[in-house]
Amino acid sequence: MKPALLCHGPYTGRFAPSPTGPLHAGSLVAALASWLDARAHGGCWLVRMEDVDPPRCVPGADHEILRQLDALGLVPDAPPQWQSRRGALYAAALERLIEAGSSYPCACTRQQIAAAAAALGRPPARHEELVYPGSCRPERGGLRGQTPRAWRLRLPDDATVHWADRRLGTQSQDVAAVVGDFVLKRGDGLWAYQLAVVVDDADQGVSHVVRGADLADNTPRQVLLQRALGLPTPSYLHTPLVMAASGEKLSKQHGATPLEVSDPLAALRAAAAVLELHVDAAQRPDWLAAATWAWAARWTNGA
Ligand code: GLU
Repeated sequence: MKPALLCHGPYTGRFAPSPTGPLHAGSLVAALASWLDARAHGGCWLVRMEDVDPPRCVPGADHEILRQLDALGLVPDAPPQWQSRRGALYAAALERLIEAGSSYPCACTRQQIAAAAAALGRPPARHEELVYPGSCRPERGGLRGQTPRAWRLRLPDDATVHWADRRLGTQSQDVAAVVGDFVLKRGDGLWAYQLAVVVDDADQGVSHVVRGADLADNTPRQVLLQRALGLPTPSYLHTPLVMAASGEKLSKQHGATPLEVSDPLAALRAAAAVLELHVDAAQRPDWLAAATWAWAARWTNGA
């Protein structure tokens, strides 16, 4: 079913959690901000479970997240979607890219990519993502008889993307220098987040993306993919992150505990504080209405 049946106005937003665990204080910030932005625009708010990477997903976390959202009063305007059921859409998009010459198969292992980067004088720093040097590009010899592992997006000659984030302001990234031709379908056969998110945002008519700032540096890749597929680019707002004591983004790996929703207002207030919203109301429905006004006053000026 197409949620667009219910969401046909000019604004569609979404919260797109990966069900790797229940909601925590950090993921609630993105959920609340995307809900508030949709409400402030009189728009539609969707929830999409990003379960394209089954080994990382925790069984039952999807339903737990929906239960937590419901307890907080953040209820989607259309039935939630699961990416694991949408593979045919991703396959069709990849097919279009291949036909257009915008995607090619790659046989490289991580070690080969690291060796190729080192040979070019660009050894990856520890923990840094490997910049793919394009070794399997067709004009560089292609697969050379090796078995294809992944499919990559062929970046355009000028892969510098400029984009305007509603909170962070003007941003730019040279995707060729930072990531290179990136993966659309992984060697293990799983769809890459970048392809799934771009296809789904377009298919669901998402006009406004509101999500955590840790995803801001993925945006230029998504913009290039939108352009390659002839899809519109939504507006973006990346929210502040909640930090763990270690100084890392709060996540399950960095100390996040499941969000306690038996006191929904306390959880909502904590998330609003991260968003620097000052909201004064004692009952959840009033609080959500007041928070929507506070958000609108701050973020919807002509957005
Ligand atoms: N599934 C991603 C995450 O939980 C979010 C994707 C997005 O909002 O674009 O980190």
